[in-house]
Amino acid sequence: MEIGKLLEKKLSRDAFVFGLERAIWLKLMSGKEPYKIKDDTYLMTRALLNSVKRAYEQGISPAYKKKLSELLLGKILFRGFKSKIPHKKTYGIEPPSFVTISPTNSCNLKCVGCYAASPCAEKHFEHLDYDVFCKIIEQNKTHFGSHFVVISGGEPLLYRGKNGKTLSDILQEHNDVFFLMYTNGTLINKEVAKKFAKLGNITPAISVEGFKEETDWRRGKGAYKKILQAMENLREAKVPFGISITPTSRNIETLFSKEFIDFWFEKQGALFAWSFQYLPQGRNPDMHLIPTPEQRFKSYFETWKFVRKGYMIADFWNCGTVTRGCMAAGKPRGGYFHILWNGDIELCVFAKIKDKNPTLNNVYNLFNSGKSIVDA
Ligand code: SF4
Repeated sequence: MEIGKLLEKKLSRDAFVFGLERAIWLKLMSGKEPYKIKDDTYLMTRALLNSVKRAYEQGISPAYKKKLSELLLGKILFRGFKSKIPHKKTYGIEPPSFVTISPTNSCNLKCVGCYAASPCAEKHFEHLDYDVFCKIIEQNKTHFGSHFVVISGGEPLLYRGKNGKTLSDILQEHNDVFFLMYTNGTLINKEVAKKFAKLGNITPAISVEGFKEETDWRRGKGAYKKILQAMENLREAKVPFGISITPTSRNIETLFSKEFIDFWFEKQGALFAWSFQYLPQGRNPDMHLIPTPEQRFKSYFETWKFVRKGYMIADFWNCGTVTRGCMAAGKPRGGYFHILWNGDIELCVFAKIKDKNPTLNNVYNLFNSGKSIVDA
């Protein structure tokens, strides 16, 4: 039976997910990796499957049902390993799992410590060429066998390519790819939410910093209210979404509290949370915002406590066992690299390091010299 059909009804959905969890557990435990790595990987995968279950229970549009089963579970989770075989045969190693593209540096907010140092003046806004954007997505598919792309920014919904092309055009043109988009959420109106619901191949991770006080302090007055409205629009259109959090010394206790999880997951309907502890980079770096060692230590246990309960919270620092360490520089199996609005290719969104060879460190130069992203 097709995955989509199995997920449709509660009984078959629960049975399918239970069976899948067991199969994953047995497969992991038969491997030779240390137990902690296997157990953490199992717990995170179980939390991911729980999010899929919750997505169906909360209600998602028909297009999302199709894309979640065909793309996310089908092409990415189940058959992902098969599509990586050609790369492994040619290069002897597995390819990266995905590419992160920040197609624009423009943004409508001016967050404290913006990691991307998004310029405040329009004259400094830059957008990745639309055709180059498409070519990266295509090559991620053909060369890495990956049907998953992460979109960051700036604010991705402000992206404008040639002839005013937007992110929606990208989603439409690459409907065999599933996108995770980091967004400030303030531009997700009813129309945008409906468009997503129709396309079904994007899930927004909306940035929140805690509750109203923390979010408005960092993102600007009124941001919190707009975020709540965006989530209402997404729920109404039946679009699955999650949150993105930046633990700082000011908000880390709030972020890993039961009240926080209850509010965003249970009340607002977030299905996942991505977390990256504050790094002093971008706009006016502030060393005082870095969580203290004690706070970081405590947050490790808090993160895993919630993951054990079935909440998908992936902390790039505290969940290193799941990705087998750092994901940067296109690491085989689970790795990625980052391409910016000006075409620059860097190791990671948070490690602004690039190759010193100009032919290899910029995607425009790379493509102009007849190379592909495999050569980066
Ligand atoms: S952190 Fe994100 S939302 Fe805030 S200014 Fe920077 S790019 Fe915009």
